[in-house]
Amino acid sequence: MNLLTVKNLHVSVGGKIILNDVSFTIKKGETVVIMGPNGSGKSTMSNVLMGHPAYQIESGQIIFKGKNIVDLKPEERAALGIFLAWQQPREIAGLDFYPFLFDFHKSLISARGQKAPSVFNFKKKLDAEVAQLQIKDDWSKRYLNQGFSGGEKKKAEMLQLALAAPTLAVFDEIDSGLDVDALKVVGQAMARFKTKDTSAMIVTHYLRILKYIKPDKVIVMKQGKVAASGGPELAKRLEKSGFKKVL
Ligand code: ADP
Ligand code: MG
Repeated sequence: MNLLTVKNLHVSVGGKIILNDVSFTIKKGETVVIMGPNGSGKSTMSNVLMGHPAYQIESGQIIFKGKNIVDLKPEERAALGIFLAWQQPREIAGLDFYPFLFDFHKSLISARGQKAPSVFNFKKKLDAEVAQLQIKDDWSKRYLNQGFSGGEKKKAEMLQLALAAPTLAVFDEIDSGLDVDALKVVGQAMARFKTKDTSAMIVTHYLRILKYIKPDKVIVMKQGKVAASGGPELAKRLEKSGFKKVL
């Protein structure tokens, strides 16, 4: 069964077409990798799935769990089960990190019609994740992403992933800016997320993260279009030979 169907999607920013007739599917339980040169539209595709308001859908459909979601707000898509880990997470001064996480978790759980967690249960869940992600204690006193290193920002995204418990997680270059130790921690967190009931869309340039989460399908974008698709061997060929040779 297809969890996500993107059908003939045309997207513009500031009147300029960025995605030009993009179609692909992600099945329940599937891991799909999106590769492609810089500027090919990978982040645009990721942001459009989450409902980023800067991107205008000119035509086409995004069907998630059988429903066309193009008119839904980001928070409605999050409640339905979509999560996006940003390529470049924003620093938000004044937004206390841990209270933000509690509100984030509570509003998602409530929007799904489930019982909101108590502060005690939330803390237990949070502490377990914080330990697994090897996050420093003083984060509880910081503002969201403020002063975090590149790698710490990516760990903060993974913490939000665990609290969001989505059905489809989109990872936009989660592996960029990570040292080998952080890569392992993040890779293991991705593997914990991925079950037969959850799906992942991984935007990456490298095979290294795919050691932790096995891809089923690889899609290559070029100039706002799907230029190629195939199995995991396509990612290997791309890393070895580069886009110019393969496409
Ligand atoms: P990728 O993630 O594959 O590197 P992007 O989706 O970030 O590519 O960008 C695709 C193209 O769309 C680029 O030419 C980029 O400059 C343009 N673009 C993306 N977002 C915006 C935006 N908010 N405003 C203007 N142009 C944008
Ligand atoms: Mg990008």
